[in-house]
Amino acid sequence: MNGFNKYYQKDRQTRLDILVQQKKLTQAEVDSLIDPKLDLTLGDTMIENFITQYQIPEGLALNYVIDGKEYLIPMVTEEPSVIAAASHGAAIVKRSGGFTSELKERLMIGQIVIEQVKDATKLAQELEQKQAKLLQLANEAHPSIVCRGGGAREIKVRILAPDLISLDLLVDVKEAMGANMLNTMLEACASYLRTELDTEILLSILSNYATRCLVKVTCEIPVSELTKGELAGEKIAQKIATASRLAQLDPYRATTHNKGIMNGIDAVVIASGNDWRAIEAGAHAYATRNGSYQGLSTWQVKGDKLIGELELPLPLGSVGGSVSIVPLVKLNHRLLELQDAKELEKIVAAVGLGQNLAALYALVTDGIQKGHMKLQLKSLAVAVGASPSEVSAVVAGLLAKKARDSATAKQILEEIRGNDHEQK
Ligand code: NDP
Repeated sequence: MNGFNKYYQKDRQTRLDILVQQKKLTQAEVDSLIDPKLDLTLGDTMIENFITQYQIPEGLALNYVIDGKEYLIPMVTEEPSVIAAASHGAAIVKRSGGFTSELKERLMIGQIVIEQVKDATKLAQELEQKQAKLLQLANEAHPSIVCRGGGAREIKVRILAPDLISLDLLVDVKEAMGANMLNTMLEACASYLRTELDTEILLSILSNYATRCLVKVTCEIPVSELTKGELAGEKIAQKIATASRLAQLDPYRATTHNKGIMNGIDAVVIASGNDWRAIEAGAHAYATRNGSYQGLSTWQVKGDKLIGELELPLPLGSVGGSVSIVPLVKLNHRLLELQDAKELEKIVAAVGLGQNLAALYALVTDGIQKGHMKLQLKSLAVAVGASPSEVSAVVAGLLAKKARDSATAKQILEEIRGNDHEQK
């Protein structure tokens, strides 16, 4: 595209000027991108072709008691009602003692994929015999992690096809998510294999399917806690359990069930400065581990209790990536009173389960729209141009008219402005 040659080499002001020159934006629009209150140097160092800071709201989820400790949880999301629902689900669980977490191990997996293999069984044996050497090479490539008590722990060899082998390296990455660390280790091992075993390496990279970094959270809720008006808690619990079974049987429902879980998970992962694409990819892959795409959480009624469980891979870092450089992320870690990455992983999983409980509870009782309505009407009011002081009047007008379309919202806004004008 004309004018965008070597765009990455230009400074930010020049990049913005080009947008005006090329008639992509007006000068006024470009001026609106320059907020003097924002530190724009950070973005320029983090990504390429940077033009401005995109803002997503951050709020706090309340009521999260996990392993006996109560947390204030920052969530970053653009979707109305996510934080309200997360807090509501957690409040139900809090009344029943809170969430319990389980983390067995925290190992990241990286792959070196060897192609054009002639005798896969023979090569697999040779690779296994080289475990000690490969672990040594991996650790030599990133010695600081060994000093921190981590490092390469195991290799696994998988024959994927007669001509393709994956050599998996398992690494204790301590407090990091570990992508860069693993990639450095893998490339060192790949280079050795290339020369020592005369293999053709296709690629070497971390796997986001972090099946050795699983987190499980559970909760037990007396069914009586679920009672809503005339609807008995026992009946609601049974319906939640059936909705959970449905998400195990039907991928159409499972996808939406898991989207709800990820509403909570992504929002905390973003607030904590972690890579949410990595978490999304791993979570959805884990949802297919039994051969078809299923709900990540399960709910069962046992005796007089509703028992919820969520297990998924959650390789999160308390250091590295943007964690160490974005001031708001550091502040969020302070709000969470984080001790380490494992604590973050259990918090994120608990939010996923709390979010899921709130969604299922709403779905099997009032339906999802009732709770969403007021927040969505607020967004609608803003979308048609209501100022902060006009929003609640527009929402009230829409509720009174039982309407939720933009034409009615605009009409109400005009009426409010007309009334204000007359009063002046
Ligand atoms: P970094 O490389 O940014 O940071 C990890 C580094 O932090 C370590 O190498 C270590 O360096 C330092 N560190 C300080 N204290 C500790 C500690 N207690 N435990 C462990 N490390 C510590 O990040 P990661 O390697 O974690 O990679 C995450 C980033 O990689 C994310 O930004 C992600 O988006 C990106 N990424 C993701 C990919 C994927 O998911 N497929 C692929 C490629 C990149 P030192 O010892 O030298 O101090």
